[in-house]
Amino acid sequence: MLIVMKFGGTSVGSAERIAQAAELALKSANEGHQVIVVTSAMSGITNQLIAAAESAAKGHWQPEIGAGLYERHQSVAEELLKDDDAKREAALKLIGQRLDQFDKLCFGLSMVHELTPRLLDSISGTGERLAAPLLAGAIASKGGRSESVEATELIITNDQFGVAEPLMDKTRESSQRRLRPLIDDGVIPVVTGFIGATEDGVITTLGRGGSDYSASIIAAAMDADEVWIWTDVNGVMTANPNEVPEARTMREISYSEASELAYYGAKVLHYKTILPAFKQNIPVRILNSFNPGDPGTRVTVQGHPSSRGVKAVTSIRNVSLVTISGKGMQGIPGIASKTFAAVAAEKANILMISQASSENNLCFVVNSSESQRVVRALKSALELDLMQGHIEDISSDDSIAVVAAVGDRMKGTPGIAGKVFAAMGSAGVNVIAISQGSSERNFSLIVGEHDAAEADRSIHRAFELEKPAQ
Ligand code: ADP
Ligand code: ASP
Ligand code: MG
Repeated sequence: MLIVMKFGGTSVGSAERIAQAAELALKSANEGHQVIVVTSAMSGITNQLIAAAESAAKGHWQPEIGAGLYERHQSVAEELLKDDDAKREAALKLIGQRLDQFDKLCFGLSMVHELTPRLLDSISGTGERLAAPLLAGAIASKGGRSESVEATELIITNDQFGVAEPLMDKTRESSQRRLRPLIDDGVIPVVTGFIGATEDGVITTLGRGGSDYSASIIAAAMDADEVWIWTDVNGVMTANPNEVPEARTMREISYSEASELAYYGAKVLHYKTILPAFKQNIPVRILNSFNPGDPGTRVTVQGHPSSRGVKAVTSIRNVSLVTISGKGMQGIPGIASKTFAAVAAEKANILMISQASSENNLCFVVNSSESQRVVRALKSALELDLMQGHIEDISSDDSIAVVAAVGDRMKGTPGIAGKVFAAMGSAGVNVIAISQGSSERNFSLIVGEHDAAEADRSIHRAFELEKPAQ
């Protein structure tokens, strides 16, 4: 079996964690499987890199940041590879070169004061390039054969810097060419997550948390048999365990449930991870590297045959509600189409749409980082309607959250909306708007951001999600 294993930031967050990740990869290899490892940056590193870039763009070049990053990786290398001078020096040489490049980019930025998405990708993608040689070294020091591989050689993407999309045919070709000989020879490649490159070789990133997506892209490109996402919880849970303490791990969920949960904020999986695996029917497991004996969650076509409607609840923050309102909107055709064309032209992603039945109001949710841009674009696209008074106001509210109840079997199960509203009523949570996708796998509410955690807990309680599914 060919397994693509991805280790998240906390799973490679220290020398001890990297040693454990190496053990897990070797265990599968020793059981006779071919293994490709995808690694995240060590925990906290990507945030530091981005902060350094932002500060450099304001004119503050801080060479001590690069030095600090070197020290953290160096001390890990010294601990992991203390008995192998050659391997340690080789890993440290790569790490030094990559940090040197990071430092030069920051220096340049502090001169030009302009942080383009393209430059940010080159900087923020450095963390994975520092971690991969350490994990490959750790596997080798435990007797395996391993080589670190840069995903810029494998994942060919478009040039949407910051949210790049793979060009699958090209990615398949380069991944097969580069990785197949290695795995056929018993080598465990350790691939940098999060990054790819354009056809011209310019580094891109797949979006924050994107190493999960890297793993499923590589799995699809390599026709893998399974994708294993090693993280720091026992799998996909019925809610965010930080918000809902009684949340429980679900043993089996469907591809669509996993996608909906990830899309609506369950950080355990990057929201694009499922699609490449789903297209090729590759099972995905979510496993705990801190508790590898636990069976985790398996993502499959049919999911668990639980009789339940709602299986899990999730919420997404840092989103904004854009509202277009006006009594004169009623009966004026084309406002919705002009609106969505303008949003699409801004390449902003709409997470949910809701229209009041009176037609006096059209509202939708976008990421907060995009809301100002979207409002500006709408004011210009709907200028005439504003002037003529059909539309009175276009505004955005950044203090909201979307809470979503998710489950394949919600379809056709009566009474879910009633139960959700009753739960919101008794928790005293004000519901600003609602939406149900036509798939009926998701019922979502817009609530004030300060109410989101309470809304999650109330829905979890109302549907008794803490009780194991039968
Ligand atoms: P990694 O670094 O391994 O990629 P992440 O921090 O990205 O890990 O994702 C794992 C975290 O996701 C968990 O520690 C947990 O706090 C959070 N999380 C949010 N919602 C859920 C959920 N429904 N199930 C499991 N974990 C969740
Ligand atoms: N290191 C990247 C991030 O922090 C990608 C990932 O961890 O999945 O966003
Ligand atoms: Mg993650």
